[in-house]
Amino acid sequence: MNSGRCAACKSQRRKCPSDCIFSPYFPANDPQRFACVHKIYGSSNVGKMLQEIPPNLREEAANTLYLEAKWRIEDPIYGCVGIISSLYKQIQNAEIELAKIQTQIAFYKLQTQQQVIEAEPNMEVLQSQSSNMEQFEVDNLFEWENPTIASWFN
Ligand SMILES: [Zn+2]
Repeated sequence: MNSGRCAACKSQRRKCPSDCIFSPYFPANDPQRFACVHKIYGSSNVGKMLQEIPPNLREEAANTLYLEAKWRIEDPIYGCVGIISSLYKQIQNAEIELAKIQTQIAFYKLQTQQQVIEAEPNMEVLQSQSSNMEQFEVDNLFEWENPTIASWFN
């Protein structure tokens, strides 16, 4: 009976015109999608926002409006910013982990170089200089401007 109407027109109990701004982006078979943007932005505001965007970008805009509204409903305080912050923290943690691993690699390369350079290594001197990995990390973690160490990773 009402199968010709999009989710927006169905929810607003009106006829769906052939040039309906909502119709391509809010199909009748996904009423929840329109319900989310309607609850957060209001139906007429969503229509206005879509009208102001070039037609080839409207689908993308409708998708982001929907996702932002969905997360605003699920998390009334942070909305999608909560997810962005959480991902940002994960990136920061991964970068710290990467810096630690790069420091370990530099440490082992340095150890190997010392063993090669010193034909008859004095093992006591070598061990006292470079066997303390923790101290090496502290000394070198944020000293990547050192051109020798930096060149090992290029
Ligand atoms: Zn419609």
